[in-house]
Amino acid sequence: MKILIVGGGMGGTILANNLARRLNGELKSGGARITMLSASDKHMYQPGLLYLAVGRMTPDELYRDQAGLLEPGIEFHVDPAEEFQLDHNRVKTKSGKLYDYDTLVIATGSRMYPEGIPGLAEHAETFYTEASALKMFKRLQEFQGGRVVIAVGVPHKCPMAPLEITFMLHDYFKDRGLGDKVQLHYTYPINRIHSLENVAKWAAPEFDRLGIAYETFFNIKEVDGKNQILRSEEGAEIKYDLLIAIPAHKGMEVIEKNGLGQNGWIPTDRQKLNMEGRKNVFVLGDTTNIPISKAGSTAHFEADTLGENIAAMVKMGTPVRDYDGKVFCFIEAGKDRATYAMFNYQNPPDPKAPTKAVHWFKMAYNKLYWVSARGLL
Ligand SMILES: Cc1cc2nc3c(=O)[nH]c(=O)nc-3n(C[C@H](O)[C@H](O)[C@H](O)COP(=O)(O)OP(=O)(O)OC[C@H]3O[C@@H](n4cnc5c(N)ncnc54)[C@H](O)[C@@H]3O)c2cc1C
Repeated sequence: MKILIVGGGMGGTILANNLARRLNGELKSGGARITMLSASDKHMYQPGLLYLAVGRMTPDELYRDQAGLLEPGIEFHVDPAEEFQLDHNRVKTKSGKLYDYDTLVIATGSRMYPEGIPGLAEHAETFYTEASALKMFKRLQEFQGGRVVIAVGVPHKCPMAPLEITFMLHDYFKDRGLGDKVQLHYTYPINRIHSLENVAKWAAPEFDRLGIAYETFFNIKEVDGKNQILRSEEGAEIKYDLLIAIPAHKGMEVIEKNGLGQNGWIPTDRQKLNMEGRKNVFVLGDTTNIPISKAGSTAHFEADTLGENIAAMVKMGTPVRDYDGKVFCFIEAGKDRATYAMFNYQNPPDPKAPTKAVHWFKMAYNKLYWVSARGLL
């Protein structure tokens, strides 16, 4: 069986390594072949961007060579997919090559889309790319006081990042001795401060305790950079001195251009993870349209399911299990404390009081990620 994986991020890498181990014999005998196409020869640990934006990590800590993360036997090409010719079971790449497959996995991820809101790209700081996180850190260092607005759009990857950056900014300004000169003001589009109800119930009293103001039902409409005003669709206005945004996301342009899914989100079966209407095309990670968190852990647990199912299809002719919606997210809660949220389709999260132990576990995971990407954790 020819297995083609498009995307060498968290989901694609964990899946490729998982399959290479399960299909070790078939790879040697020629009964299976695994090919990965990606847009970069580097692999970025995206959760590190959160720490980069507040000066707690350096850029070199975020990257490894992609080829070095892959098990022997996986063919790897830096050659982005451009045309998905699904009716012909093949993908055309930027270099003009055609890659044919029996089974295709699409794991191209997602991207912030500040351009969708007038004024947002020009006037807000963001931290979802290396360049923007470094720019944000520079602005933070220059900032001497005033109102810092943290404005959230949905959907976005990493459900906990807006809360985490708010707690981390609280620490950052306090450590600089600016605690009483800075007012943090958080906005969220629905009627609570997080999409997961129990996370919102846990976070609101934490914000209250730290004096962090928040405004709900605030869907970002536009940024008036000249007058430093953020406006919402609901008619509210907030004056800011520094605006930090987690803009709403889209899937990758190549997905939209190929008509695979609106805004780059591919219609995906929530249990089997195949693209709707296509039995031999699977979707992994951020680019699915499944209404669960767009997180590395989601991509990881989905990759575990797909690894088992695709290997079973090679060995037994049929998939053997369903994805149950499992997600696990750490939540950095400030002052070297953290908690976590674990949930699936059936069971909602129930975050507990943050502890130092969970924070240090998260710090260890930031290093252990490279073991996890190899599929060993
Ligand atoms: C600031 C921040 C903090 C985060 N914190 C956490 C956290 O604490 N916990 C957590 O679980 N998650 C976290 N995440 C989210 C997590 O990083 C993503 O959800 C995860 O990386 C998604 O995996 P993926 O495989 O779907 O996409 P990605 O990891 O983004 O990989 C996509 C891959 O596709 C490739 N690609 C793109 N276009 C093409 C193309 N045309 N052809 C071939 N390849 C292509 C890219 O080069 C990349 O290798 C965070 C993200 C950010 C930005």
